[in-house]
Amino acid sequence: MIAVVRDSATTEQLDLFVKWIEDRGFRTNVSQGDHETLVGIIGDTTQIDPFILESMDIVERVQRVSEPFKLANRKFHPEDTVVDCGHGTLVGGGNFQVIAGPCSVEGENLLTIARAVKAAGATMLRGGAFKPRTSPYAYQGMGEKGLDLLLEAGGELGMPVVTEVMDPRDVGVFVEKGVDVLQIGARNAQNFALLKEVGQTSVPVLLKRGMSETIDELVLGAEYVMSEGNASVMLCERGIRTFETRTRNTFDVNAVPVLKHLTHLPVIADPSHSTGYTRYVRSAAYAATAAGADGLEIEVHDCPSRAWSDGAQALTPEQFEDAMRRIALIREAVTAEIEEA
Ligand code: PEP
Ligand code: MN
Repeated sequence: MIAVVRDSATTEQLDLFVKWIEDRGFRTNVSQGDHETLVGIIGDTTQIDPFILESMDIVERVQRVSEPFKLANRKFHPEDTVVDCGHGTLVGGGNFQVIAGPCSVEGENLLTIARAVKAAGATMLRGGAFKPRTSPYAYQGMGEKGLDLLLEAGGELGMPVVTEVMDPRDVGVFVEKGVDVLQIGARNAQNFALLKEVGQTSVPVLLKRGMSETIDELVLGAEYVMSEGNASVMLCERGIRTFETRTRNTFDVNAVPVLKHLTHLPVIADPSHSTGYTRYVRSAAYAATAAGADGLEIEVHDCPSRAWSDGAQALTPEQFEDAMRRIALIREAVTAEIEEA
């Protein structure tokens, strides 16, 4: 629920109003804009009578927020959130970044891949050290050794690193080692214990959409993280499971503008897991860029046929370089100021 406060209200009146709400067990989020002050009321607002609020002199009007999320809601926070991922890399609010690297950290080739993606314009380095595999017999990742290799490469090249954490018990190690962005994978999108745990850190989170998640459920996942105190959340569309079998997943390009409309959080698109095949990755990347994504996450491997995971969807450094040039052109077209005729 949102109370729009009258222009004429004094600071004392606003403080009293906020106290009145908080005394009733709700939390508040005051957002002072140029023209209006909004007081977000957080908690079970079914317990509050909007007419009582509207009867108060200070209140201009009360709006029920139909969406079940508050902290991530653009209605409360109209400006885009800009997430600072470290090494001077900002995402959102007009800052577009490309995260690239192998599906899994495999060893020494990481540095080769990292150098190539950086030269092509990627600003963040990805690589899984703890891999969520559908089969328990599939390669599970290098673990902590993989984190060290990733951090070494990121440090050497001045790139923030993005890597998946799967277990709430591992979050501490990721943070201590200095991982720049904690990725929550599709299979853990509704692992609420994990979401709460990363919410208690101040490390940016890249939250992927669950395979069968609705857009609202994805945003509620972000809400879990944010309600624990961590506001640095980026959402990631990575394809959803549908009846289609020609691609690994179905890329929901609609989700990009819908998420940007509903929330103030940066929206990243992952064309690699969305399509599952190298031959389609670039088209999906272009579509996401044109749709207004704040960034892309793309899997790149120096020798895809030898990759330990997801080789079928990896771009070679050459393909990635070509894609980056076209992505830059698409960004230009999408963000250009067009004079009215
Ligand atoms: C990944 O990024 O390597 C990954 C496993 O992605 P997702 O969780 O989207 O499947
Ligand atoms: Mn992968």
